[in-house]
Amino acid sequence: MSPQTGYVYDPRYLLHNPGGLHPERPQRLQAIYQRIQEDGLLNHIVLIPPYEAPLTWIEKLHDPDYIQRFQEACRKGFHIFMTPDCGICKDSYDIARLAVGGVFAAIDAVMQGTAQNAFCAVRPPGHHAERRRAMGFCFFNNIALGAVYLLEQYGLERVAIVDWDVHHGNGTQHLLEEEPRVFYLSLHEDPMSCYPGTGHHQEQGRGPGQGYTLNLPLAAGSGDDVYLQALETAGLPRLRRFNPQFVLISAGFDAHRDDPLAHQELTHEGYRAMGQHIVNLAQECAEGRLVTVLEGGYNLEVLADCVEDHLRLLLAAH
Ligand SMILES: [Zn+2]
Repeated sequence: MSPQTGYVYDPRYLLHNPGGLHPERPQRLQAIYQRIQEDGLLNHIVLIPPYEAPLTWIEKLHDPDYIQRFQEACRKGFHIFMTPDCGICKDSYDIARLAVGGVFAAIDAVMQGTAQNAFCAVRPPGHHAERRRAMGFCFFNNIALGAVYLLEQYGLERVAIVDWDVHHGNGTQHLLEEEPRVFYLSLHEDPMSCYPGTGHHQEQGRGPGQGYTLNLPLAAGSGDDVYLQALETAGLPRLRRFNPQFVLISAGFDAHRDDPLAHQELTHEGYRAMGQHIVNLAQECAEGRLVTVLEGGYNLEVLADCVEDHLRLLLAAH
């Protein structure tokens, strides 16, 4: 079978409802789906159906108590969980498990050779979720669990995560900071001006993971040039030296100049150029094995533009 680009999606992802005016709304995935349907991209990609991640896997990074509290909060009909920005509904627990399982399904497809690379149009997002804390619209850390799945299910020894969401992926960093088999690179808005306030350059990993976290905080107002310079001069050399066998992208499109949540000035050309660099890295080091996982991005038009661009890069990579 010729190599393909996978697309993880399931209409059940729309069931997670964090509240009427919440920016992380179901329409995000509908806007993306509508775009790729309209422009014919859907005919060129393989739909990968997600599954609910088994609890034994989620428990590798999240406390059983925390998982159970989240499940009960949903079952009891609560409207928020732990923090006001983490709105929930009765379906949120199941759908959060389906988001983790969407990443697993994409990894399975790439590792088993049915896809060369894949994009996961999943929600809720994950990179702020900590071991026992929901934060920033996130409940389970989809991408960190994906990295652990690659290490333990497939026996890989070097997995890179590139996080270009405008917000620092505090959860991903903290869950994996002692793990030298995962290199975490984050480009984000300066924590002094932007949520969640972590991701300073001095945070470089802990214990055996010292040196496997690279934070590149960028001043508010940074645009394509600043992002690309940081990636090209600081990020890519370190990633190449790490020589990953598999590359994961925590793809937030909220550093775009027209996104309402932060203060960066990226354009979709800047996002495309960053995506091309990471696609190239995956081809050089990892036989092209790349899975991109959606994080933030709250302007529907911008989100659809950026995801369409990114899918075209993935398609052109094989
Ligand atoms: Zn974000």
